Amino acid sequence: MASRTRRQFLKESLFTMTAMGAMPARRMSAAEPRRGLEDRQQERIASSKSHTMKLTLSTHELKTRHPFTISRGTTTTKTTMIVELEQDGIRGYGEAVQHSFYGITIENMTSALEGVRSLVEGRPIDDPAALWKELDPKLSSNRFAQNALDQAAWDLYGKLRGFPVWKMWGLSLDHCPPTDYTIGIDSIDKMVAKLHEMPGFPVYKVKLGTDNDLEIMQALRKATDAVFRIDANCGWTVDEAIEKSYALKELGVEFIEQPLPRDAWKEMPKVYRESALPVIADESSQTEEDVARCDGLFHGINVKIAKAGGLTPGKRMLEDARRRGMKTMIGCFTESSVGISAIAQLLPLVDYADLDGILLIANDIATGVTIDRGKITFPKENGTGVRLLQ
Ligand SMILES: [Mg+2]
Repeated sequence: MASRTRRQFLKESLFTMTAMGAMPARRMSAAEPRRGLEDRQQERIASSKSHTMKLTLSTHELKTRHPFTISRGTTTTKTTMIVELEQDGIRGYGEAVQHSFYGITIENMTSALEGVRSLVEGRPIDDPAALWKELDPKLSSNRFAQNALDQAAWDLYGKLRGFPVWKMWGLSLDHCPPTDYTIGIDSIDKMVAKLHEMPGFPVYKVKLGTDNDLEIMQALRKATDAVFRIDANCGWTVDEAIEKSYALKELGVEFIEQPLPRDAWKEMPKVYRESALPVIADESSQTEEDVARCDGLFHGINVKIAKAGGLTPGKRMLEDARRRGMKTMIGCFTESSVGISAIAQLLPLVDYADLDGILLIANDIATGVTIDRGKITFPKENGTGVRLLQ
C-alpha cells in the first residue's frame, strides 16, 4: 500500500505541477514520442489491472486460553486460514478454522480456493452475493473455504463502497442481543472458576453431555444469577433430553441446543413436543436446505456461517427461519476477530448470539468487533470492520 501511495502522490504532484504550468515545456527528440507511446501503453495496462482482485491465503495458529472440551473431545490450539482479497490497495479478510469433525483441513481449503483463483482474480468486486452464486458449484464441497472467501468479498466490498456490511443490508444495530460466554466441559470446580473468570455476562452457555450434567448446573447456579443456555452437542438420548429439560428449566435455563445427534430426525418430534424448554438446532441446521427440515422439529436454528458457506447463505437462512416463525441464533467456532466480526454483521437478524470465540483465544490476530460483558461493539471501519495485526 505504501508504494501505491507514493505512486499516487507522484502522479498527483505531476498533475498539479503540469496544471499550474510549473513544468516547463520542452522540445522532444525524435526518439521520445515512441517512449511516450510505450509509457501510455504501460499506463493503460496498469490502470486496467488496478481495479481487479488479488487473492492471498495464509495460515495462523490460535492458542486457546484453556483446554476446551465439549462432548466430543479436547483442544488447546486452533489452526485457522485467513483469506485476503485485495483491490486498489484495499484489503478484505475472511477466516475459516480447520475442523476435524467436519473433515476440514488447511490443505483441502487451500485446494478448494486455488481451484477458483483464476475466476476471482483479474476482475473487480461488484456483487459478493452474485460472486458466491457463480462460484458455488466449485466451492459447495468445502463450505468452510467458501465462507472465508465470502467474508473477504463482503469486507472488501464494504470497505471500497465506504459502508459497514450490516448497513449495506439495510439493517440497524438498535436491537442487537448480547453474546453469551461459553463454558466448556470440565470438572465442576473448573467450570465454576471459568464462570468467575468472565463475570458480568447476562447469559452463559454451558456445554453438557456428561454423567453429572445436573450437578454441574446446580453448582453454576449458585455462582451467578445470569440466564443459562445449554449445548448438549448431540450428547443426549430422547428420554434424557426430556427428563433433564424440566430440572434445567427450574435452574434458569432458557433453551437447549442440539440435544440429539444431527440425523435424529425421527426422534426429534417427541423432544420437540415434550421438552420443558425450547430446542435449538445446531448440528442439524448446517446449510440452507436444513432450515425447512428443522421447521416443526426445533423451535429455532443456530446458524454457523462456516457450515453454511458464508454470510451470503447464512443471511438467507436466518431470514427463512424468521419467516417461518422460528427463533434465530448465530454461533461461531473458536476463531479470531476476522471471523467473529464477519458473523457479527448478522447480529440484527437474531434473537440469540454466541460470538465469544475471540474471548476463548489468547493471541488474536486482528481487530474488529469487541465484547465487554456480553455487549458487542462495532468498530468504525467499514466492511466487516477487520484490520489484521500481522
Ligand atoms: Mg452448538
